Amino acid sequence: MAHCTVPEAEAILDKSFPVLDKGFVRLIDYLGSDDRIVQAARVSYGEGTKSYRKDKGLITYLLRNDHTSPFEQVNITFHIKMPIFVARQWIRHRTARVNEISGRYSVMADESYIPSDENISYQSSDNKQGRSDEPVPSEICEKVKKLIEEDQKRTYAVYQELLDMGIARELARVNLPLSLYTEWYWQMDLHNLFHFLQLRMDMHAQYEIRVFAKTIFEIVKKICPVACEAFEDYRLGGVTFTHGEIEQITAISDTEKCTFTGREKENFLKKLRVIAGKFDR
Ligand SMILES: Cc1cc2nc3c(=O)[nH]c(=O)nc-3n(C[C@H](O)[C@H](O)[C@H](O)COP(=O)(O)OP(=O)(O)OC[C@H]3O[C@@H](n4cnc5c(N)ncnc54)[C@H](O)[C@@H]3O)c2cc1C
Repeated sequence: MAHCTVPEAEAILDKSFPVLDKGFVRLIDYLGSDDRIVQAARVSYGEGTKSYRKDKGLITYLLRNDHTSPFEQVNITFHIKMPIFVARQWIRHRTARVNEISGRYSVMADESYIPSDENISYQSSDNKQGRSDEPVPSEICEKVKKLIEEDQKRTYAVYQELLDMGIARELARVNLPLSLYTEWYWQMDLHNLFHFLQLRMDMHAQYEIRVFAKTIFEIVKKICPVACEAFEDYRLGGVTFTHGEIEQITAISDTEKCTFTGREKENFLKKLRVIAGKFDR
C-alpha cells in the first residue's frame, strides 16, 4: 500500500476549526495513518496489515512499550493562526517544521486576542504559572477587556503611522503586542506530536495553547484513531510512580511504616485518586 487515505481525514482537509476569538487550526495534509504505523512496524517481517484486531493490538503494544519509530512515519501538516504569545510557547517544540508569516515582508493584520470573560482570572496564589479559580466580577472583566483593547488599538495605530511614514515593515512592527495574531504552517511526525499534545493538553499548560492542542488532537483522531486511542489510554490517562511511591504502596495503610512527608503523601494519594477515578469509569 503506497499511499494511505483515510475518508474521515479527507472530509476535513482544508476545513477551518475555530480556536479562541480569531484563531483556527486547518488540516493541510497528512502522510500515513494507522495503517502506515502497522506497515512500518511489520516491514522487518515483510508483512503488511492484518486484521483490524491484530493491527490495533500491534499499535497499542508499540505505544505502550515506547517502540516509537513507526509513529514517526506519520507526518501531519497544519495551518494555524494563533496569538504571538501562544506561538512563543509553541515554538519551543523543536521537532516541528515551521513556516511563519513574515512581518518583514507583509503588513501584519489588525487582529489581536481579547480573552472572553470566562477566561479572565486572578493570579493563582499557590501556582506561580497558573490562574486562580476565584471568579472575577463582570465589571472587572469589562475593565480588563477595555484596557487590553485600548492598548491594542493604540499600538496598531502607531504601527500604521510608521508604515505611512515609509518606515520599513521590519522596524514599524517592533511595538506590536504579543496578543497580535500570527500564522504558520506547522508539520510534525506523530511520535513528537503525541509528546507535544501530552505537554500542551495538560492542565498545567496555559489555557490559550491548551485549546489549540485539543483541537489538533481531535483532527489527529480522524487520521489515526487507533494510535490516538492507545495514546489516550496509556499516556494521557496513565500515571507513573516513583520508586519510593511503589515501596510505599504496600506501606501506606500502615502509618507506622509510612515514611512520606505530608506533601509526598498528598501527591501520592492524588495519583491513587486518579487511578480510582479510572476504575470508576
Ligand atoms: C506547562 C509548561 C511550562 C513551561 N514553562 C517553561 C518556562 O517557564 N520556561 C521555559 O524556558 N520553558 C518552559 N516550558 C517549555 C519546556 O521547557 C520545553 O522547552 C517544551 O515543553 C518543549 O519540550 P521538549 O524540549 O521536550 O520538546 P521538543 O523540542 O519537541 O523536543 C522533543 C524531544 O527531542 C529532544 N530534543 C529536541 N531538540 C533537542 C536539542 N536541541 N537538544 C537536546 N534534545 C533535543 C528532547 O529529548 C525532547 O524532549 C514549559 C512547558 C510546559 C509544557
